[in-house]
Amino acid sequence: MFSQELVLLGQYSLGDNMRFSGWQVLRQGVSGNKGWAPQWRNPDPKTEYDIVIIGGGGHGLSTAYYLAKEHGLKNIAVLEKGYLGGGNVGRNTTIVRANYYLPGNSEFYSHSLKLWENLEAELNYNVMLSQRGVIQIFHSDGQRDAAVRRGNAMINQGDDAVLLDREGLRKILPYLDYDNARFPVYGGLLHPRGGTARHDAVAWGYARGADQRGVDLIQNCEVTGIDVENGKVRGVQTTRGAIRAKKVAMVVAGRSSQVAAMAGMRLPIESHVLQAFVTEGLKPAIDHVISFGMGHFYISQSDKGGLVFGGDLDFYASYAQRGGLHRKEQVMQAAMTLMPMIGKARVLRSWGGIMDMTPDGSPIIDKTHIEGLFVNAGWCYGGFKAVPGSGKSFAHLLATGTHHQPAARFQLDRFKSGHLIDEEGTGAQHNLH
Ligand SMILES: Cc1cc2nc3c(=O)[nH]c(=O)nc-3n(C[C@H](O)[C@H](O)[C@H](O)COP(=O)(O)OP(=O)(O)OC[C@H]3O[C@@H](n4cnc5c(N)ncnc54)[C@H](O)[C@@H]3O)c2cc1C
Repeated sequence: MFSQELVLLGQYSLGDNMRFSGWQVLRQGVSGNKGWAPQWRNPDPKTEYDIVIIGGGGHGLSTAYYLAKEHGLKNIAVLEKGYLGGGNVGRNTTIVRANYYLPGNSEFYSHSLKLWENLEAELNYNVMLSQRGVIQIFHSDGQRDAAVRRGNAMINQGDDAVLLDREGLRKILPYLDYDNARFPVYGGLLHPRGGTARHDAVAWGYARGADQRGVDLIQNCEVTGIDVENGKVRGVQTTRGAIRAKKVAMVVAGRSSQVAAMAGMRLPIESHVLQAFVTEGLKPAIDHVISFGMGHFYISQSDKGGLVFGGDLDFYASYAQRGGLHRKEQVMQAAMTLMPMIGKARVLRSWGGIMDMTPDGSPIIDKTHIEGLFVNAGWCYGGFKAVPGSGKSFAHLLATGTHHQPAARFQLDRFKSGHLIDEEGTGAQHNLH
C-alpha cells in the first residue's frame, strides 16, 4: 500500500491548492515530507494593480483574502517591506477576546470573535484557536461594579460572561496569592469564549488563502512614496520600482504615521513600544488567560509550555522593536504580586513591537480625504484579535466604498468631532490606552 501511495505522491504537482488534512499529513509522512508545496508564490511586482495593500501583517493579509474571496477582486498586491508576518502579528501575546464595553468596540470584537471560531475551517489552516477562557481579576468593590457592567454589556452583545466571586475564582486559579497579596483578590470576570491562537499561523493562513485566489504577495518591497495627483491616489513608489494602483490601502500598524506622511497626511497616532516575555517550557500550570486588575499584566501558557506575558507600553514614543528595563521590572513585579509561584520560572526571551496608539485607544478603518487612499490603523495593543474582523470590514470598505456595519464607528473624523470610543476612560493621551 505504501509503495502505491509513494507513486501517487510522485505525481502530485507542487503548487496551488494543496489542502491540509490528516490524510495529507500521513501521505507526506511516509514520503519523507518531500511533497509539501510552498504555501504561496513569490511573484515579481506588476506595474499596475487595482488595489495595492501596504503591509503584510495580519490586517493587510486578511484584507487581501476577503477582497479576493468575498468581492471577487483578484488584481491585488500586498507589499511588505520585510517578510510576511514579521511585524506585530508575529510578536504579540496571542490573546483573542470579545470582552469590550463600549458601543463601537463591542459589536466589532464580537463580530471578529465569531470569525475566529470558524477560521480554521475557512482557511483550511490550523491557527490553534484555544478558547480556554479569559479572566479579568478585580481587586475592589469599585472594580467589581465595573466588571458587572462590562459583563452585562458583553451578554447584551450576545457574547458570554460569568462573574466569579473570590471562592469561585480560587477553585479555578488556586495559585493566585489570595492571602497575603498587596492588592486583595475579590473575584474575576470570566469570558469563556476568549483564549489564544497561534499568531503567525493566522498570517500564514490568510497569506495562503489570498495567494490561492490570485493575490500577489510581494515581500522585501518597501513603499517609499505615495503618488497623489489632483487629490487622487495614482500608485506607490517602492524599493522594487513604481507601481500604479486605482486604490491604495495603508495597513502598516506601528508605521502608520510615517506611511501616511508620504501622502502628506498627519494621523492622530503615536508609535510606542510594547514588550512581551516568555519563560522556559513548564508543565501545564495556567490553563486560562489571566489579566491582573491592579496594573497592566496578562499571562497565558503556550502549547509548548512557556508562560507568555506582558504589561504596559514603555510609555515613550519609539520605533524600536525592543524595550527598556524599567518596563521589564514593572511586569515582573506585577507577575510576582499576582502569582508568586512565577518567581521560580526562568524568563527565556523578551521582545518588542511598535504599537500604533490613537488618542482614544480604538482603531481607524476609513477612507481618507485623498480619493482612492484608505487607512486601517490605530489597533494599539489589541489588534491581533481584530485580524479577521478588520480584514473583512476593510475589504468591504475598499470594495464597496461603504462602511461595514460592525466597524462603522471607526472613522477618522471622530477625533475632530470628539465622539471618541475611549474604552479605558483615560482621556486623549495615546500612551495611556
Ligand atoms: C508584544 C505585543 C503583544 C501584543 N499582544 C496582543 C494580544 O495579546 N492580543 C491582541 O489582540 N493584540 C496584541 N498585540 C497587538 C497586535 O499584535 C497588533 O495590533 C496587530 O498585529 C497589528 O496589525 P498587523 O498584524 O497588521 O501589524 P504588523 O504585523 O505589524 O503588520 C504591518 C506590516 O507593515 C509593514 N510595513 C511597514 N511599513 C511598510 C512600508 N513602508 N512598506 C511596506 N510594508 C511596510 C511591516 O513590515 C509589517 O509587516 C500585541 C502586540 C505586541 C507588540
